[in-house]
Amino acid sequence: MTKITRFAPSPTGRLHVGNIRTALHNWMLARQSGGRFILRIDDTDAERSREEYVDAIRSDLTWLGLGWNAEERQSHRLARYEAAFDALKAAGRIYPCYETAQELEVKRKIALGRGLPPIYDRAALKLSDADHAAKQAEGIAPHWRFLLDHAEPITWEDGIRGTQKFDAAQLSDPVIRRADGSWLYMMPSAVDDIDMGITQVLRGEDHVSNTAVQIQIFTALFAADFAAAKSLPAFAHEALLVGREGKLSKRLGSLGCDAFRERGIEPEAIVALLARLGTSQPVEPIADRPALVASFDLGTFGRAPAKFDDEDLDRLNAAIVHQLPFEAVQARLPEGMDAAGWHAIRPNLAHIGEAAEWWRLVTGPITQPDFTDEDRAFLADAAAHLVWGDNPWGMLTTALKDATGRKGRALFLPLRQALTGMDHGPDMGELLPLIGEAEARARLERAANA
Ligand code: GLU
Repeated sequence: MTKITRFAPSPTGRLHVGNIRTALHNWMLARQSGGRFILRIDDTDAERSREEYVDAIRSDLTWLGLGWNAEERQSHRLARYEAAFDALKAAGRIYPCYETAQELEVKRKIALGRGLPPIYDRAALKLSDADHAAKQAEGIAPHWRFLLDHAEPITWEDGIRGTQKFDAAQLSDPVIRRADGSWLYMMPSAVDDIDMGITQVLRGEDHVSNTAVQIQIFTALFAADFAAAKSLPAFAHEALLVGREGKLSKRLGSLGCDAFRERGIEPEAIVALLARLGTSQPVEPIADRPALVASFDLGTFGRAPAKFDDEDLDRLNAAIVHQLPFEAVQARLPEGMDAAGWHAIRPNLAHIGEAAEWWRLVTGPITQPDFTDEDRAFLADAAAHLVWGDNPWGMLTTALKDATGRKGRALFLPLRQALTGMDHGPDMGELLPLIGEAEARARLERAANA
């Protein structure tokens, strides 16, 4: 079945690693089935929503390579919410309330004090017409709650958590609209999921009780013939992402694409990590996106919190960088570095930003260490034996081995030091042709004569 999924961020801040994970999983589910991935901007909160965050969400998703098939905005769909509200009101599923935040808080405290769950007591349902008229006369506008049906338990088969069961009587009737007419999250999201034909709602487990409520909103809208479509989406709730220490960390909540980019983390490394974190599948440096998508399976998700570890990400990043083809990184490489240069240097990088440092070994200038007299004589031999061909390093070391009897470290280390100024680094067989004959000879002679 082709799936239609959505990622529904509120543009009240930047995406953090937890949001990125949800976006990725929804994207993968859609791609895997040849379906559609919708970016839904949940911007009903006009005061806290910012256009700059909408732009940042788009550019972060683009950087991560999570393209979307359509973009929707809740602020453009207010007429639809009004229609749903009217339909639910006509069906007797919405009622006006007048309690202030303070009054509700007092009620909550009293319930808790009595050892009862802090559930809204539905006092507003008992108001008479005269009470309503009196509020109106005072100029007090109501806020609106959705009337949960307590008759039947709410159940669904969760794609990750298995069978879920809620007693609606244990939930508060949710406020769906504020007194100023603005919308809270609960109803618009269900209306959108219906109108956009969402087949699979995949989100964090902090939304589990919202799902219970929303299933009743869906059902009430279906019963009111609000839309032609009448089937519930499938739901799945993933365990939350926690820091290495196993706690919900503040840091994770602010860790986003900018920080990753600054640290030289490739989008492919983030994707490879987040695709499998918290699943029974091994986290591997898979840069091949279609392969990763093909292996995605909700059935492998565990219920335990998924641990995010920066060291895993760094390791994965290095392994991904070692696989990246020249074409993919060309624009970010130092001037003059070609495919052969990239190939030689890539295995030494933890991130692409380090390429310049290593490329300097080719272009110079390099600083050579002090050599012993013996090594200087050896390096003079090396300069004399340097001949150019297909494999100058192989030819040089073979000739020197025969001429001097040196082998192993005694053979290779002074050469590497003289040619690059370093004790370690990229494969000399690949590096020497890049340094070039004249420069290589000059470096060997300089070391010999120092
Ligand atoms: N805007 C909501 C959030 O960011 C969307 C939740 C959902 O996926 O329905 O939590």
